[in-house]
Amino acid sequence: MSEILKQNKSGWEGIEEELKSKIFEFSKQYIEFLNKSKTEREIVTNAENLAIASGFKHLDEYTELHAGDKVYYKNRDKNLYLAVIGSQDIEAGINIIGAHGDSPRLDLKPNPLYQTGNFSYFNTHYYGGIKKYQWTAIPLAIHGVIVKENGEKITVSIGENEDEPVFVITDLLPHLAKAQNQKKLGEAIEGEKLDVVVGNIPIKEDKSEEDEKAKADKKAGKVKQNIMRILNQKYGITEEDFFSSELEVVPAFKARTLGFDESLVAGYGQDDKVCVYTSLRAILNVEKPQRTAVCLFSDKEEIGSMGNTGMESHVFDTFISEILNKLRVNRPNLLDKVFCNSKMLSADVDAGVDPLYTDVQDLENAGFMGHGVALNKYTGSGGKYNASDANAEYVAQIRKIFNDNNIKYQLAELGKVDVGGGGTIAYILANKGIDVIDCGIPILSMHSPYEVASKFDIYQAFLAYTAFFNN
Ligand code: MN
Ligand code: MN
Repeated sequence: MSEILKQNKSGWEGIEEELKSKIFEFSKQYIEFLNKSKTEREIVTNAENLAIASGFKHLDEYTELHAGDKVYYKNRDKNLYLAVIGSQDIEAGINIIGAHGDSPRLDLKPNPLYQTGNFSYFNTHYYGGIKKYQWTAIPLAIHGVIVKENGEKITVSIGENEDEPVFVITDLLPHLAKAQNQKKLGEAIEGEKLDVVVGNIPIKEDKSEEDEKAKADKKAGKVKQNIMRILNQKYGITEEDFFSSELEVVPAFKARTLGFDESLVAGYGQDDKVCVYTSLRAILNVEKPQRTAVCLFSDKEEIGSMGNTGMESHVFDTFISEILNKLRVNRPNLLDKVFCNSKMLSADVDAGVDPLYTDVQDLENAGFMGHGVALNKYTGSGGKYNASDANAEYVAQIRKIFNDNNIKYQLAELGKVDVGGGGTIAYILANKGIDVIDCGIPILSMHSPYEVASKFDIYQAFLAYTAFFNN
């Protein structure tokens, strides 16, 4: 019977020491990358640097493209597209892997700094699907950019190093939380209460300056004034400069190995930076492929993929069009034809089975941690609504690639029917005519400040993406 029944056991079972040490070494590099890449801008910068070190050149540096050339394009510091030109006629299609670099977080509002009582705060607006209570009483860091009127860009990262302060959102002590504890979990912490403590010392009074301006400043609050003074000294900014800033509040803790057996990685932003890193490493290894290999890291996936850095924008199409131009093969409709012949793995994380919460999963159709990459034939919710459903013919092709290359994989759904659901960027590329299937890593505590992934699955994703590019 063993030949006709499918296998679904842990990849750690009976693992060879040699493979295990490769897995641990890969994860170590991944953890280092994750710790430097907490935002979409940072992941794009760090991925760009690795690509350049591997011989990739900016699209503008090429007047013509030829087989074997490595080219990239960066869209507004938030998207990165990488391609290795294949030897086959590009009309026969390209192999794409797409992940997203943005993760759930708290964004500062346009007028963030205020004082209430004797504290000064940054007011935030959360980004993506978070469980708000998870963001209180943990150390937070602030990353991002402030752009001055003259275009000067100030890069901010504070709260990561031991000698830097951290920030925190306070919560009520249990002794006084009787009423709060009666509330529903999703309502106990309000979005407007997700404000970050930034200071408590009032500014020194200057008695000589009792003009109208000074009176107005006093209204703003002495603690706020003091924080603004510090920010002015540290970054050279005025309060109005916040208008043109993108500052993101993220967990300050470092990604770490988890467990006595060191089998797991715990860290912020693994959705979807784990797929960014594994697909990046895969394309950096591609040399002279038959089909053009393309890796893309999109932005704004967590809030619907809209805008000119989201997957819904046409910037990716423009990148591929430019490749067609520089291959000197472009003609009307060729881009559409290339897309119709193309294949894609939508590389995004999957809801891993949490043994403490199995009631939300159909265990015959769920992704298990340590059982390899998870293919989701379709996502969507409530009757496959809004699903991008991979065609059976395409799933068969992917199965063959994975089996031929000894990739450990599983087929999963995102939770029980009628329980929930979700989506990725898959449908956006499928709408262009590309064959797409979701292929990612099962994780636990998704969208929390400290997500958990299996080192075995991380390495399998790297092997799976590598095999996909080479087929
Ligand atoms: Mn995701
Ligand atoms: Mn997500």
